[in-house]
Amino acid sequence: MSNDVHEVYAVRYAHHDRHASENYLFGDPHDINQPLAYFVWVITGPSGTFVVDTGFDRAMADKRGRTIVKPVAEGLQSLGIAPDSVEDVIVTHLHYDHCGNHDLFPRARYHIQDDEVAYATGRCMCHPMIRIPFEEEDVVAMVRKVFANRVRFHEGDSQVAPGITLHRIGGHSKGLQSVRVKTKRGHVMLASDASHLYAHFQEGRVFPVTYNIGDVLEGYQTLKRLADSPAHIVPGHDPDVVKRYPAARAGLEEMVVRLDVHPRP
Ligand SMILES: [Zn+2]
Ligand SMILES: [Zn+2]
Repeated sequence: MSNDVHEVYAVRYAHHDRHASENYLFGDPHDINQPLAYFVWVITGPSGTFVVDTGFDRAMADKRGRTIVKPVAEGLQSLGIAPDSVEDVIVTHLHYDHCGNHDLFPRARYHIQDDEVAYATGRCMCHPMIRIPFEEEDVVAMVRKVFANRVRFHEGDSQVAPGITLHRIGGHSKGLQSVRVKTKRGHVMLASDASHLYAHFQEGRVFPVTYNIGDVLEGYQTLKRLADSPAHIVPGHDPDVVKRYPAARAGLEEMVVRLDVHPRP
């Protein structure tokens, strides 16, 4: 195996039922339940193990009315990963569902965009409406890691290891980054919230939580440009992800799936 080809997994940890109209700016005409799934992602290969996002814990699930289906630590352990051995965590953005479980990775350095930390600690947080997807304790925990020399800042496009690059997309959150991973099936884009559902990037629609609509729409073009095909784009919250991809191993069906193999058509 060459030194830049990695395995990639989606680890589902929570669930939230919601009406379809809540998933789109300007709503949706379908009177149906269109739930969100919550994931962290794992990249393993010649450069080690990279965990992408850290999810939230049970206390946050209760506060926000979400349901934990398997705590993040257990999902990682089912892949044979001990959280306290992880050395690199990539945080796509600082919304509560991507950066909780602050103490789960005591040895890790955290990779994040300059713009995201500036956004989450700056004047925009004076506005209650913009604060909604942020948690004060999450942001403070990240600032403490800055002072503990545990944060590596990135600006725009950046390589964290051969075959793993970060790409600032913005839009949904000002410093949102997606992760491009070279795999045996080509370049996979872990979109995170650059596209919550398949429908967002496929149909050019926008999730209601948005800092800049233009950047969201441009972001879909960036995802398509950086992925080897649309089937290489993995949205951040679509429950269909665990149906399209095979279980990482027997018994993990619809919980932990492999993203470095081709999805079902
Ligand atoms: Zn988000
Ligand atoms: Zn999210």
